Amino acid sequence: MRFSNLHTHTTFSDGKGTVKENVESAIAKNMLSLGFSDHSFTACDTSYCMKLEDYGAYADEVLRAREEYRGQIPIFLGIEKDYYSDVDRSTFDYVIASVHYIVRGGICYPIDHSARQQEECIRDAFGGSVMDMARCYYDMVIEHAQSSKPTLIGHFDVLNKFSIMPERDERYISLTVDAMTEVAKYCKYFEINTGGISRGWRTVPYPSDYLLRHLLSLGGEVVINSDSHHPDNLDFHFNESVQLLREVGYDHFCVFNGTGFDKVKL
Ligand SMILES: [Zn+2]
Ligand SMILES: [Zn+2]
Repeated sequence: MRFSNLHTHTTFSDGKGTVKENVESAIAKNMLSLGFSDHSFTACDTSYCMKLEDYGAYADEVLRAREEYRGQIPIFLGIEKDYYSDVDRSTFDYVIASVHYIVRGGICYPIDHSARQQEECIRDAFGGSVMDMARCYYDMVIEHAQSSKPTLIGHFDVLNKFSIMPERDERYISLTVDAMTEVAKYCKYFEINTGGISRGWRTVPYPSDYLLRHLLSLGGEVVINSDSHHPDNLDFHFNESVQLLREVGYDHFCVFNGTGFDKVKL
């Protein structure tokens, strides 16, 4: 089975490989296509994202690669748009909508950088209530889907990254299920994101299997992405994700074609 990856970070943000190194890796892996999605600029934390003044160079380099490798592999220009970023939608072939921060009382709390920072957010911004923080995060995901009109939803339940969330608690489960129902009204394409596995945080991708089942019942669609920060990881855990999708009941997943999605039979 040939794969595509739309969630690729390069040295323009916090990835380890250049655009060219990623394209060469995708060709070596016989991938169908490759999309780049470096982090949009976030004023509250500039440590990992693209600089505003680099947007042009990033687009130029990806579009140059598209020409250089035409006939070998289709290349798409995307962006991972954070909740706290403004992005000119027309510049990009696709947009991944992700929430990485909660800003409260003028303080910017990264929610998927480290367990310590997520715990600080729960303690200092939500009075120690995990559920209040979770409600805030999923409300932001809904709002992001509504206002940004993304092509797909990035790492829907990334809040689970450090296993701090009460993932088996009925209230948490119903919060996430209801949030997914709302998000799917605005965007029905969700990524399976294997980035938490390649970095050793998780053993299963986002979203959790019960959410994949729920998405199927909603008529939602799945795109398999690696959230790759190294050219070697472009298709990390993709075969296992296909197996997971089969087990959950899917008969296809989706790959981007430049303007929309094609279905690939499982
Ligand atoms: Zn992300
Ligand atoms: Zn990412």
